[in-house]
Parts: sequence; structure tokens; C-alpha cells
Amino acid sequence: MSMKLARRWSNFGTSIFTEMTQLANAHGAVNLAQGFPDFGGPEEVLKEVARETLHCHNQYAPAIGEAGLRAAVSSLVKSRTGIEYCPDEEVTVTTGATEAIYSVVNAFVNQGDRVVVFEPCYDSYAQAIANAGGVLVPVRLHAPDTPAGLANGGWAVDWDEFKSATSAGFALMILNTPHNPTGKIFTPAELEKISQCVIGNDAILMCDEVYEYLTYLPDGPSVSPVALSGMRSRTVRISSAAKTFGFTGFKVGWVTAPADLMRDIRLVHQGVVFCTNPATQRGLATMMADKQWIAGYLAGLPEIYGAKQNFLAASLSKSGFRVQRAEGSYFLMASYETHVKGTAVRDVDFVKTLISGARVAAIPPSVFYYGSQAPRRLNWLRFAFCKTDETLTSAAERLEGWAQRSLSTV
Ligand code: PMP
Ligand code: GLN
Repeated sequence: MSMKLARRWSNFGTSIFTEMTQLANAHGAVNLAQGFPDFGGPEEVLKEVARETLHCHNQYAPAIGEAGLRAAVSSLVKSRTGIEYCPDEEVTVTTGATEAIYSVVNAFVNQGDRVVVFEPCYDSYAQAIANAGGVLVPVRLHAPDTPAGLANGGWAVDWDEFKSATSAGFALMILNTPHNPTGKIFTPAELEKISQCVIGNDAILMCDEVYEYLTYLPDGPSVSPVALSGMRSRTVRISSAAKTFGFTGFKVGWVTAPADLMRDIRLVHQGVVFCTNPATQRGLATMMADKQWIAGYLAGLPEIYGAKQNFLAASLSKSGFRVQRAEGSYFLMASYETHVKGTAVRDVDFVKTLISGARVAAIPPSVFYYGSQAPRRLNWLRFAFCKTDETLTSAAERLEGWAQRSLSTV
């Protein structure tokens, strides 16, 4: 048989998350690579989902999502952004944010269309763009140890580069804030520049805000670009129960967008999955509609995840890494410059040393560059801190023991 993978998919292999998780398992390593909480989400949600699983029809849900969940999403998004979305026309439930990304990109990107993406970026964007036949136009986020990063105190956009990347126009821009893998939250001033550019190009902004409730800025939560002047009519906003409730296995996400854009997104969504399982949607809806419960639950997240970040950051620092703390998300980036001083060691190689030597797994961020080569010197790894205290303690012991052994021989 001469059947071959379609060319548009030929640049992709097994996901780095699968690869690192397999490697971690093979070495008995603590998995700080794949971003999933190894503790359960709220039991109240599980109980409702279990109840619905036993008692609801368990047949196809409405393609646009269960009415109760769409209403709950609408009210949650309103309390977060101040923007009101009609649950019937402007909210759609998807099979995780992954499907939302795929459906949105494929709804708006034609063959040859330019799609602006900040790199390093989450892998689904590149795959969805490739499937649509679009051209990924990268804008680099410069690392904290580069001149642009040092000037900015963290991962930084060079606005001259941004201008030249966008000057030929584009159909869609993809923004992820809080950002995976860097943990960056785009500032209101940065969002203003981005919005002006999207408006000036009469383009659409797809904003992936799956980490919207996991933020650690002293002056409050991240700002959503949808709230900026002129942006509601051209922003498609994505979020997900995976991050908000810590159940990555639920695969329930949602999109909010103005009705005209939503009609197109729904067409693709209908063709890709048609609908998402009803029991999970209904269980989530019940708890999300409980105003007192949801407010208390969401308000507690920064403290819980913030303490985990503090713990891991302290241990990595003790182990000779330079930590760039996450402003949001459940990932922090740490530079291993000290461990390789004077030598050039690629992150994909260093992470293997860490997995076999320390028995702790992380993600090499060079795999998140799709529209350009990763910088030659990218001595950073991404560590997930969405783990139990026991898991983090075990990782810390291993990292510190390994660092003592390896730094003493440098
Ligand atoms: N967007 C980003 C930035 C992510 O990190 C992830 C995965 N963790 C997703 C989307 C996918 O979310 P889901 O699991 O809901 O498909
Ligand atoms: N989003 C998660 C991460 O960044 C993993 C998603 C996946 O495994 N596909 O680690």
C-alpha cells in the first residue's frame, strides 16, 4: 500500500508531553513535564458529574453545549471580563480547549493566510494552522537572560520585531495569556499594542486564556484583551475546565465570541466532534452555577498554586537553577546555565541528563518553536508545579541531591 501521511501533518511527531511522560515513567522519574495536576479537582464537581453519569440520558448533547453550562460560562466570563455573552448565540462548549483551538483556527484560516503567534507556543496552534494551510508568522518572546528580556525583567516582545512580523497583514493572531510555557502574563500596555495591531489589520484575535484563574501578580488577575476598546467584536476567547477545575481528563472547554464569528466556529466544531459528553457538562454546570461555591473555589486557586510554585522555585534555586517565576499558569521556567557553564548543551539533551541523573522530568522549550528556529542558546526548562506536596517534595529531594553531586564535579 502506498498510503502516506498527508503532507500538512508531516512536520509533526509524537507530542513532547507524551514523549517526556514515557521517558519519566521509564526512569521512575517525578513527572514535572506534562502539565496535569496529580491531585484531584474539587470533589463537589466529581459528585455532580457522577450523579449526572448515572441519571442523565447519556446520549448526544446539543452540539453547541448543554444549556446549563453555556449559561454558567456566560456568567463566569462576565464576572471575569465585564463582557456579556449571549449563552445561546455566543457561547459554545468544546471537547477541551484543544478542540476549540482547532475549530477556531480552521474556521477562519484559508490556505496561505498569515497567522501571528508568539513563540515559544503551545503545540496545538501550529498543528491547527498547518491543517488549515495557514502560514505561522512567529513573534519571538525573548528569554529573561537576553538583552530584551533583561530590559523587561522577564519574557519580552521586541516591538520592532512585532511590527515587522505584522506589517504584511494577517488573518488571525493567537495570544495565550497567561502563557504556556513561559508563565508570562501580557501587561495591559502590551495588550493595547496587540489590540491596536489586530484592529488596524481588520483581523481576528484568538485569545487562549485557559490559565485565567491561575495568576500570581500582586496587583490582581490577568487582563483579557476582550475587555479593551474595539476588541469584543473581533476576539474569540477560549478557556477550559481542565485548568480551572484541575480535571484535564474531562476534556471540556468553551469558546465565547460575537455571534457572527460564533456561527462559523460552530460549523467547524459540528464537523469535528459534533458535541461533548453531556454528564460532565451538566455536572460542571451545577457547580459553576452555585455562585457562592464557585467564587470561593476560584478565589482560593492563586494561593494553592502559588504556594506550590514557591516551594519548587526555592528548591530549583537551591539546586543551581535560575528561576523565572511564573506570573500565571502552572509552569515555571528555570535556566540551567550554571550547570553547563562554558558549554553549549541543548535543552533536549540536558533534560535527558536531568531525567536519568536526578530522576525528575521537565519539558525542553525548544520544541515550542514552529515558525522559526529555536534560539541557539536556550538554556531553559519548563517545570510543572501542579503537583501534590508529596510529589514536589520528592522532586526537591532528588534535584537537590543531584545538584550537589553534579555541581561539585563541575
Ligand atoms: N491551551 C494551552 C495554553 C494549554 O496549555 C492547554 C493544555 N494544557 C490547552 C490549551 C488544552 O486544554 P484542554 O486540555 O482543555 O484541551
Ligand atoms: N497542556 C499540557 C502541557 O502543556 C499538556 C497537554 C497534553 O499533554 N497534550 O503540559
